[in-house]
Amino acid sequence: MRRKLIAGNWKMYKTDAEAIELARGIAREAGNLTDRDVLLCPPFTSLKSVNEAIQRTSVKLGAQTLHWEKEGAFTGMISGPMLKAVGCSYVIIGHSEQRQYFGETNETVNKRVKAALSYGLLPIMCVGELLAEREAGRAEAVVKEQLEGGLKSISQDDMKKIVIAYEPVWAIGTGKTATPEDADNMHKFIRGTVAKLYSSEIAEGTIIQYGGSVKPENVDELMARPNIDGALVGGAALKVESFTRIVRFK
Ligand code: PEP
Repeated sequence: MRRKLIAGNWKMYKTDAEAIELARGIAREAGNLTDRDVLLCPPFTSLKSVNEAIQRTSVKLGAQTLHWEKEGAFTGMISGPMLKAVGCSYVIIGHSEQRQYFGETNETVNKRVKAALSYGLLPIMCVGELLAEREAGRAEAVVKEQLEGGLKSISQDDMKKIVIAYEPVWAIGTGKTATPEDADNMHKFIRGTVAKLYSSEIAEGTIIQYGGSVKPENVDELMARPNIDGALVGGAALKVESFTRIVRFK
């Protein structure tokens, strides 16, 4: 049985004081859930303080990206060991905003995924097509390419630790959600691709999150789909009330 994983991607929002307040609120309202995993991914500047705010709760900590080198002259970058040292257990990799604005490619996603695994972090590898790609009937081809590129030469054992997040780019921050049926179909396709690349046993165990305008109003329907194993939430993760409702999906 796959465990549902609900993650809040705070992007470049929240000063440290605001982050502490949000984390405390979420920890208070959703810090005792045992049948699902709840994960907070604040900006780098608040990883340490959010980690303190969620101590002695079931809430977990993740980062929004990492550099693949262990250390070095890479101004502005953060490494896997640094993330581990402040309490991260997960890291988001290949988010569409990284692909769109910061030159992330399937190749750099692959390097980051390997680095995360080597430092004991669980990667959440994001995939998803642009609107033009969907309209051109290329959604599956694009996602397949992202999966093959991002997972290149990753072992069977390591694949068991990777979470895939399907985020159709046209649904991120736009208020447009893929219909639960469309999302489930793509999740099924992703699972099938993982089965071809690895095995059906590994594919059956792979957590595949959906992301793209997940809200209190649509979460129950999305989570009821057989291939949707959680959510990666942006906008609605920035308020205690909406994120708590999402985490407490029925
Ligand atoms: C995201 O940032 O990964 C995301 C899905 O954002 P939103 O929920 O705001 O669409």
